[in-house]
Amino acid sequence: MTISYDPPSVRPTSTPRKSTSPASHPLEAWVADSKVSEMGQTSALRDDASSVEFPLESPEFTPPAAKTPFYLPGSGCPIKPQVSLAGLTSYRVGGPAQWYVAPRCPEDLQISLEWAKSEGLPVIVLGAGSNLLVSDRGLPGLVVGTRHLRHIRFDPEIAQVQAGAGVPIAQLARLVAQRGWQGLEWAVGIPGTVGGAIVMNAGAHESCIADVLVDVDVLSPAGNAARLGVSELGYRYRTSRLQGGDRVVTQATFQLQPGGDPQRVMATTEAHLERRRTTQPYHLPSCGSVFRNPEPYKAAWLIEQTGLKGYQIGGAQVSQLHANFILNCGKATASDIYQLMRYVQQQVEQRWSIRLEPEVKILGEF
Ligand SMILES: Cc1cc2nc3c(=O)[nH]c(=O)nc-3n(C[C@H](O)[C@H](O)[C@H](O)COP(=O)(O)OP(=O)(O)OC[C@H]3O[C@@H](n4cnc5c(N)ncnc54)[C@H](O)[C@@H]3O)c2cc1C
Repeated sequence: MTISYDPPSVRPTSTPRKSTSPASHPLEAWVADSKVSEMGQTSALRDDASSVEFPLESPEFTPPAAKTPFYLPGSGCPIKPQVSLAGLTSYRVGGPAQWYVAPRCPEDLQISLEWAKSEGLPVIVLGAGSNLLVSDRGLPGLVVGTRHLRHIRFDPEIAQVQAGAGVPIAQLARLVAQRGWQGLEWAVGIPGTVGGAIVMNAGAHESCIADVLVDVDVLSPAGNAARLGVSELGYRYRTSRLQGGDRVVTQATFQLQPGGDPQRVMATTEAHLERRRTTQPYHLPSCGSVFRNPEPYKAAWLIEQTGLKGYQIGGAQVSQLHANFILNCGKATASDIYQLMRYVQQQVEQRWSIRLEPEVKILGEF
């Protein structure tokens, strides 16, 4: 696809500064960096809007055709061409995004969405990329990373917490547990963001995000903001009305149960994590469970009973520990993983007459 853009002269809103610590894993650099505040204090979102990840050679506008990052009018975040998505997904595979932006505030997000719309570009939202399989050929359009939208505000009066879409859900789980607030203990082992958890209705240990969600702020491609209550989101097992839609979750409010002993709530939280570490393979890149559980069966059980544990195509392998995990054993391509998924699907269907449906979102051409 060719993109033409003929903007007026564009400058960043202030001088770009260099990132201090590039992360080797989507979640690594985030946890220490969220802005946490009590209700009533400003979370200083806009303060960060001028910082960018990479220094640019020139702050002047460079047309996209030149394949260099550029700024949109009024935005402090560069839109970058050809950004590899392998480093931004938990599978560590996938080709480049045609364009990539990681807004630091809702205003910059809105400007980016409007630009994509005006250019006729598809938009794909990327949280922590922990439930995605991105094609080796990459993705056309604009990939919007939410990783910098990570303010957190507590309202101790009513035990609610409001969190930006890019806040790691595991971090949020720990922060509320430290206050003795119950309700998110189960989320500590999920390596995704608040936004991804809301869209996927992430869950574990018989609980899910819909249980604690109050409402969600979304932005439409046209730039319209709306607040949706949990009952409007059509929540079911690992599904919500936000899936496959074009609205971007910017932040959400959760209702917790206050009054617990912080040490006990923390202990429960850590116990959940410990249990997962012994039952799930966290040592190699994956997307967690690949297939949805076809009730009343567990996908892992069906795959294991089909004799597929350890089965390998290229660098992708069905985990020996948990058969619903497909691991990147080091040099897997997205195509290896995709082919292994297809193979598992076919074998299970042949044996059980049950078609396993992917939980992982498959993006791009395969
Ligand atoms: C080791 C491991 C263990 C896991 N265990 C679990 C588990 O126990 N339970 C579970 O439910 N999942 C689990 N997962 C899967 C994954 O972590 C969850 O689905 C998580 O909620 C995805 O969040 P994310 O930010 O990574 O979303 P992504 O993978 O980046 O995106 C997932 C989908 O949500 C969309 N999306 C993301 N953010 C937004 C936003 N702000 N606005 C609009 N759309 C958005 C994306 O476009 C995509 O369609 C696991 C994954 C791994 C790697």
